[in-house]
Amino acid sequence: MTLATAPREQRRGVIERYREFLPVSAATPIISLGEGNTPLIPCPKLSAQVGRGCEVFVKYEGLNPTCSFKDRGMTVAVSKAVERGMQAVVCASTGNTSASAAAYAARAGIRCAVILPAGKIASGKMVQAYAYGARVVAIEGNFDDALRVVRELGKRPEFAVVNSINPDRIAGQKSAAFEIVEELGDAPDLHLLPVGNAGNITAYWAGYREYLAAEKASKLPAMLGFQAAGSAPIFHGKTIEQPETIASAIRIGNPASWDLAKAALRDSGGAIDIVTDDEILEAQRWLAGHEGIFVEPASAASIAGLFKCCDTGRASALRTRGIEDGSQIVCTVTGHGLKDPDAVRFTTESSVRPSEAEVLRAIGF
Ligand SMILES: *Cc1c(COP(=O)(O)O)cnc(C)c1O
Repeated sequence: MTLATAPREQRRGVIERYREFLPVSAATPIISLGEGNTPLIPCPKLSAQVGRGCEVFVKYEGLNPTCSFKDRGMTVAVSKAVERGMQAVVCASTGNTSASAAAYAARAGIRCAVILPAGKIASGKMVQAYAYGARVVAIEGNFDDALRVVRELGKRPEFAVVNSINPDRIAGQKSAAFEIVEELGDAPDLHLLPVGNAGNITAYWAGYREYLAAEKASKLPAMLGFQAAGSAPIFHGKTIEQPETIASAIRIGNPASWDLAKAALRDSGGAIDIVTDDEILEAQRWLAGHEGIFVEPASAASIAGLFKCCDTGRASALRTRGIEDGSQIVCTVTGHGLKDPDAVRFTTESSVRPSEAEVLRAIGF
C-alpha cells in the first residue's frame, strides 16, 4: 500500500486522531511524524506458553518514527512548546527520549539539547541524536543526575523540558491504550510493561480510565510493571543510588512518576515485580526467535515478566494476583531491537568459498 492509497486514518498522527483527549486547541501547531498506530501483534507461541486459553498480544512500539513509544508523547510536548513560542527543548535521557526530542525539534525547526549519562547510551540511540542535529552533552553521572540538571535548566525561560515530568508527554502516551481498546473491542484483562521513570505505566492507566469514562471500554485491565532487578526502586520501596542493568532504558534509580505509578498499580489491582538481566536477554532472544519481534532489552522486560508469571515454581506478581483462564493479555514492547545492537551476542562464522557444497555444509542443512 502506498501512502497515497493508505486509509487517511493511518496517515494521521496521535494529535489528529485523539485531539479531544489531548491538551490541544485549534491554535496548536501540529508537529507530527505520523506516530502511533503501531501493530498489536497476536502471539500464538507466547499464548501457548501461558496456556489455559489465554491470548497474548504484543504492542510493538518499536515501529514508531524514531523506533520507540516516546514519539507519542513527544508530538504533543513539542507541539505545545512551539505553541508557547519556545525556541529550544531540553531533556535528560537514557537514549530514546533524546532521539525522539531531536527528531520532533528538527521537524519544528527549533533547537534541541540533550543531557546524557556518559558512556551509558546504546549506540543506535546515540546515532539518532546526532543525525537529527541535537546538541549532545554527556555528564559524569547517571540518568537521575542528568534529570536533576534538566529540572534546573527548565526554570530558565528559553527551555521547554520534554522529559516525562512534562504532562504533555504523558497525555500523548495515553494514545497507546486507546489504540488497544479500539483493536480488541474492549480493554484487555492484563497489561504488562517495563517500568523506568514510570511515565508510561501512568499514561496507559490514564488512557484506559478515560476510555472507560467515555464508554469506549467496559472494564479496566490490571497493570503489571516490571523493573530490572538491579534498578528496582519501586519494587524495593527506596531510591537506588547506583542502578545497574543491561536494559539501559530502565536504568533509573529515582523514577519521576513514582507516586502516580503506585496509584496505577494499586487502583488497577496490579503489581510490580523484578526480572534479572539474564531473564531479560533470554526473553529478548525468545521473542525474536519465536515470534519474529526484535526489541531492545528494556522492552523485553515485559516478556520476561510474563514468563516469570507463568513459571509455577516461582512467586510472581501475576500469580499473587491470580491469572484467570481465557484472559486477554497485552505486553507493551517499548523500543526496537536495532536501538541497541551491542546487546545481542552472536559469533560470525568464517567465510567459505562461493560453492553450493561449501555453503550447504556451512549452514548445516
Ligand atoms: C523510556 C523507556 C522505557 C521506560 O518508560 P518509563 O515511562 O520511563 O517507565 C522502557 N523502555 C524503553 C525502550 C524506553 O525508551
